[in-house]
Amino acid sequence: MKQRIVVVTGGASGIGRGVTEGFLAAGDRVIVADVDARAAHDTGRDHVELDISDPASVDAAVSLVTRQFGPIDVLVNNAGLAGGGGPVTALDVEVFDRCVRVNFRGTFLMTRAVGAHMAEAGTRGAIVNVSSIGARQPTPGLGHYEATKAAVDALTRSAALELAPHGIRVNAVAPGPVLTPMTAGFAADTAARAAWESRIPLGRIASVEDVVPAVVFLASPAAGHITGVSLAVDGGQLLT
Ligand code: NAD
Repeated sequence: MKQRIVVVTGGASGIGRGVTEGFLAAGDRVIVADVDARAAHDTGRDHVELDISDPASVDAAVSLVTRQFGPIDVLVNNAGLAGGGGPVTALDVEVFDRCVRVNFRGTFLMTRAVGAHMAEAGTRGAIVNVSSIGARQPTPGLGHYEATKAAVDALTRSAALELAPHGIRVNAVAPGPVLTPMTAGFAADTAARAAWESRIPLGRIASVEDVVPAVVFLASPAAGHITGVSLAVDGGQLLT
């Protein structure tokens, strides 16, 4: 099988970094696409600096990657943030706007640019979005973040339908809480961590390694008849 070209947004940290290593282990060529140029450089992997919420930055990065590495076979829309927390009646509007810009607008801009490129290049590729079970199960204080992930799930279904005629599959992986730099604050707080763990039937917060195989699988030929799904990797949390 030919070596695939895989772009992982937010590949410099946490889940994205693990996903990058997962595709490399599968024999693919991976380009880390991250707004944090230094962290991307420090991964020691091929990388490009981009801000997924900025259309000019997205278009420039996609054109640079395709010129340097060739047609993109797989896009992992992983970059995202919460940016803060608070009840919907009091949340800072700037936190809301930043979260929407990166998680929703950013996933849209990347899907628009790379989806068009894949269709034109005829790569019959795959797109995997990193959503969250929060899109389906609320946690007080995270309403703004969860709404962006519900939007990502809806975009996953629309893009899957529209890109299917080109042989391009679009799916999502929806983790429950995962130990990454994003969650390091609460994970270090014993009481907060126990409260999160008590919601998970399998009894523990996920590691990055729990999430990576689902992303690699959905992008693989083994998932060739799967499109438009959002696969929960949550230790059973959605059952509660
Ligand atoms: P992280 O903070 O460790 O990594 C996020 C990466 O995205 C960083 O490298 C950051 O520089 C990059 N990034 C942020 N804004 C960007 C932008 N505008 N353009 C390009 N890159 C940008 O976070 P993580 O925990 O690994 O989260 C990765 C994804 O998983 C996110 O979409 C997050 O919402 C989702 N998720 C995380 C958890 C969790 O508990 N950690 C649970 C469910 C879903």
